[in-house]
Amino acid sequence: MERSFKKEVQALKLGDGETFHGEGILAVTKALLQSGVSYVGGYQGAPVSHLLDVLVDAEDILSDLGVHLETCSNEASAAAMLGASINYPLRGAVTWKSIVGTNVAADALSNLASPGVVGGAMIILGEDYGEGASVIQERSYAYALKSSMWLLDPRPDLPSIVRTVEKGFELSEASHAPVMLELRIRACHATGEFAASDNRKGIVSGLDKLAGPPRFEYGRLAHPPVIFAQEKLKIEERLPAARAFIREHKLNELIDGDLNDVGIVVMGGLTNSVLRALERLGLADIFGASRVPVLVLNVVYPLVPEEIREFCATKRAVLVVEEGHPDYIEQAVNVELRRADIQTRVLGKGLLPNAGEYASGVLLNGLAAFLTETRPNGIDADAVAGKARDILAVRAKTAEALGALPARPPTFCTGCPERPVFSAIKLVQREIGPTHISGDIGCHAFATFAPFSLGNSILGYGMSLASAAAVTPNMERRPIAVMGDGGFWHNGLITGVASNLFNKGDGVLIVMQNGYASATGQQYIPSSAASKEGPAPGMDIERTLRAMGVKWLRTVRTYGVANMVKTLKEAMRTAERGLKVIIADGECQLARQRRVRVQDAEKLKRGERVTRTRYGVDDEICTGDHSCIRLSGCPSLTVKPSPDPLRTDPVATVIESCVGCGLCGEVAHAAVLCPSFYRAEIVRNATWRDRFVHRFRQIVIGWLGGYNGRAVVKT
Ligand code: SF4
Ligand code: SF4
Repeated sequence: MERSFKKEVQALKLGDGETFHGEGILAVTKALLQSGVSYVGGYQGAPVSHLLDVLVDAEDILSDLGVHLETCSNEASAAAMLGASINYPLRGAVTWKSIVGTNVAADALSNLASPGVVGGAMIILGEDYGEGASVIQERSYAYALKSSMWLLDPRPDLPSIVRTVEKGFELSEASHAPVMLELRIRACHATGEFAASDNRKGIVSGLDKLAGPPRFEYGRLAHPPVIFAQEKLKIEERLPAARAFIREHKLNELIDGDLNDVGIVVMGGLTNSVLRALERLGLADIFGASRVPVLVLNVVYPLVPEEIREFCATKRAVLVVEEGHPDYIEQAVNVELRRADIQTRVLGKGLLPNAGEYASGVLLNGLAAFLTETRPNGIDADAVAGKARDILAVRAKTAEALGALPARPPTFCTGCPERPVFSAIKLVQREIGPTHISGDIGCHAFATFAPFSLGNSILGYGMSLASAAAVTPNMERRPIAVMGDGGFWHNGLITGVASNLFNKGDGVLIVMQNGYASATGQQYIPSSAASKEGPAPGMDIERTLRAMGVKWLRTVRTYGVANMVKTLKEAMRTAERGLKVIIADGECQLARQRRVRVQDAEKLKRGERVTRTRYGVDDEICTGDHSCIRLSGCPSLTVKPSPDPLRTDPVATVIESCVGCGLCGEVAHAAVLCPSFYRAEIVRNATWRDRFVHRFRQIVIGWLGGYNGRAVVKT
C-alpha cells in the first residue's frame, strides 16, 4: 500500500499571489510545475522519494498541464528519459537518490551530456551524504565535472530552492547542457514558505504534441565522429554560456559584511549551517545578516572566475567551506586566484575536516580556527575562539552527564516477513555450518545487524547474486544471495539471474517477495498486487524466472520457518547443478498494517466482527534462556522479571506492539525450543458463536484445572 500525499498535493494547485507553506521537497515539485515541464520521472530513494510520490498522487494536475509522468524501473531508465530534451524543446526533470542512483544512471548521463539539450533537462539528486545517510559516502560533484553538467546546490530556504529550479531550466537551455540540482537531506526536509506562481504548460506537451521528428541531424547523436566535436562544444561554447548566465542572473549570492579583509566561500547547501555557526559566535544575526562577507555558491559547478576574483581580491584570506573529498572548489579557487596573480590566502581543508558532514560542532571549530589564524580587523579573534570552546564544552559536559547511550541499530519492523528468513538461515547454518551471504540493498540489509549479523558483502541494488559469482566456484558450501523484489526488477534480473544462467552458474538466490519497494516508502513495483492506476500490470517473478530458464525454483511462505529451513537445506545440499531460487513470499508488514488498520476501523464502525492475533509467553513455562529472542530478533519480544522467586533469570514476554505474525511461535517450534508460546485471538464485536465457544472453553479448562471461576482462555 503506497503512502498517500493527497493533502500535500493541494499545495501544488496554488497560483499567483498565494503563499506556499511546506517542505523543501514539495517546493521543488511545485517549482517544476511553475517551470512548464513536459515530462517528469524518476526512481524512488531517500531523501527524494516524496517528490515522485507526490507527483504520482498529483496525476490529475499533471494531466491538466499535459505533463507525462513515468515511474521508472531504475535510474538508468530515468536518465535515458531526458533524451527527449536532446532534440525537442521539452523541459523535463527526473529524480533519484545519489550517489548510488547516479552511478546506475551514469551511462545515459554521459550520452545525454555529450550531444547536449535543446529543452531544459534537470536531474534532481537526493544527495544522501552525512549524518542520517544510508549509502556509501561519495559526492555527486565528480559526475558534474566529468560530463560537463552544471551542479546546482541551492541554499536551503524555499525561495532560493524554487528560484534555483526555475533558473536551472533557463540555464540548461541557455547553455544547452543538462543541470543537476542536489538536495541534501536537510534541504529536502527544511520547511518554510514562498510566493507561489501559476503552473505553466510546456511549449510542447501531451496537450500540444509535436507534428513529427526534426530534420535528421547527426550532431544530435552521441556517436563517432561527432563526439569529438561535442567534447569541444562542452568546453568552448556551453561552459562560457553557462558562466555568463550564472553571472548575469546572479544565481550565486553575496552576503556583505563589515569584516571585509576576510571572507567565506560556501557551497549553497551549507549556507544555513555556516550562518548559524556565525550567529552562535556573535558574528551574524538570526536572520542571516553576517559580519563576515559570504559568497554563496548556489551553483557549485561551474564556478564563475570573475565572481571568485572579485570576492577575493580585496581580502587577505578566504575560507572555503566545502563538504567531502576531494576539495574541488578549494582547488578551483586557488587556481583562479593564482592565474589572476591575486595573493589572497585560501584556507579550507585542514581547518575543516576532509571527510564527513559539516555539522554544527565541525563548523564552530573550523570557523574559530579560521578567525584565529587570520585575525580579521575589528574583532577579538581569541574571544570568538573562546566562545566556540565554551559552546562545545557544554556539549561535551552534557554527553558526559548522559553517559554512554545504548546503541540502537535499525531493525526490521515488528512482524516483518523478511525476519523469518534470516531466522531460518541461522537454523540451517547451525546444522550445515556457515556459508557466504551476499547481501543487497533493501530492508533485508537489516539482517547485517544483531541478532542476525548475517551478510558478507553488499555491492549495490540488485547486485547480490552477481557479487557471489566469483565466490561460488571458490567456496565449499554454496553461497546464499539475498535480494528484494525491488532489487530484482531494478537490475537483479539481468545483472544477477541472466548472468548466472548464461555462465551456467550455481548458488542459492533468495528473492524477498514483499510486494513493494518497502525501504523507500512502499512504492509499487512491477510485481505488486496492485498498481497506482488500479489492477496490477501482471509481471510475476516466478513466471519470469521460469521463462529465463531457472529449473530449481520454490516459492515458500516466509513465516513458515520449518518449511523455509527444509527448503534451504535442500537448496544447499542438492546435487543438482545450476541456480537455486527460493521466492520468500510475504507482504511487507508495514504496508499490510496500514491497509488492515483502515479496513478494521471501517468494519468496527459498521459493527462487524474484527479479530486480532497476538502471541504471548507463558511465564510459568519460560526457562529464561531467550533463544527465541536471539533467533527472531522481534522488537515486540523482550524480557521481564520472573514471577517465580526460585528462578532468577528474567522470562521472555510479548509486548503490546505484537502484530501476531507468528514468527516467535514458529521459531520455537522449528528450533525445538520450548512450548511456552501461545496464540490468542482478540475478538471485537464478538458474535453469539464466539461467546458460546468462549464460555464452553472456560468450563472445560475449569474442569481440567480445578474450576475457580477465573480461568483464562489461551487458544
Ligand atoms: S518496511 Fe516492510 S519489508 Fe521493510 S522492514 Fe518493515 S515490514 Fe519489513
Ligand atoms: S512477538 Fe512474535 S508474533 Fe508478535 S510480532 Fe513478534 S514475532 Fe510476530
